Amino acid sequence: MNFSGFDFDESVKAALSALDNHGRIPHAIIIESKNREAALEAAKFLSMYAVCTSDSKPCKTCEQCHKAEIKGHADISYPRPENKSKTYSIEQMRNIIKDSYILPNEANAKVYVFEEADNRLTDIAQNSFLKLLEEPPQNVYFILLCESAQKLLVTILSRCTVVRLKNEVRISEKALEYAEKIVKGIISSREYDLLLSLNVLSDKENADETLSTVRMILRDGLALSIGTKAVFNEKLGRELATRFTKGKIIEMIELTDNSAIKIKQNININLLTTWLCGEYRRISWQR
Ligand SMILES: [Zn+2]
Repeated sequence: MNFSGFDFDESVKAALSALDNHGRIPHAIIIESKNREAALEAAKFLSMYAVCTSDSKPCKTCEQCHKAEIKGHADISYPRPENKSKTYSIEQMRNIIKDSYILPNEANAKVYVFEEADNRLTDIAQNSFLKLLEEPPQNVYFILLCESAQKLLVTILSRCTVVRLKNEVRISEKALEYAEKIVKGIISSREYDLLLSLNVLSDKENADETLSTVRMILRDGLALSIGTKAVFNEKLGRELATRFTKGKIIEMIELTDNSAIKIKQNININLLTTWLCGEYRRISWQR
């Protein structure tokens, strides 16, 4: 990837470079960032990369790059919800899906950039998207921008490569330490290890962040189990992928989400840890 002329910091360059596989990028990418402008810049960069005709992509000088840069490329669209609505209607989604099967006008690729995907794509809209993400038309790329990929359906996440523009996501050392403990507990075959590790959730101030960090590590496990790259914790992600099937990891992510909701509802922490321990183990051991 050619970053000259782009104002990305090193961590963003690293995250974007990780997408490059012999000159190709994944067909479905989620860019997670609290900074909308930064996410949009990254999406623009990738769209230029997809349509550029030079050997050193994106060159920023060819006609394709130029049109992409000024958002005037016929094959790169940034669909917005119609009719002043805040979300995409099912009809609009159908039209986008239909459109994606039509060959590009002038480039060798088509790109769709969905801004604020975590707000604008309802569950129904996301579901209508699943089949397309599974078997996308050739040379069609979908880039979903969001503040929190966690808000998207797990089924969408599992079909996309997630790029986190890391520099802005600060996870406290406590939450990271706790989350690693829990994940190690999940991987361990001893019930006692898991139960003990879940005790960290009694530190209420950090519980929410701890669970979302557990989720990020589980997601790395999922990414590695479907052959894409880890973005957060490669080592534990690898251990998860080795130990559990993709289906089990997806279930664990859903379970972690549910427990985050329960914490927000102020559930008794002893009940929560006992329940979580039982559920993680049930998922681990089921056939
Ligand atoms: Zn170019």
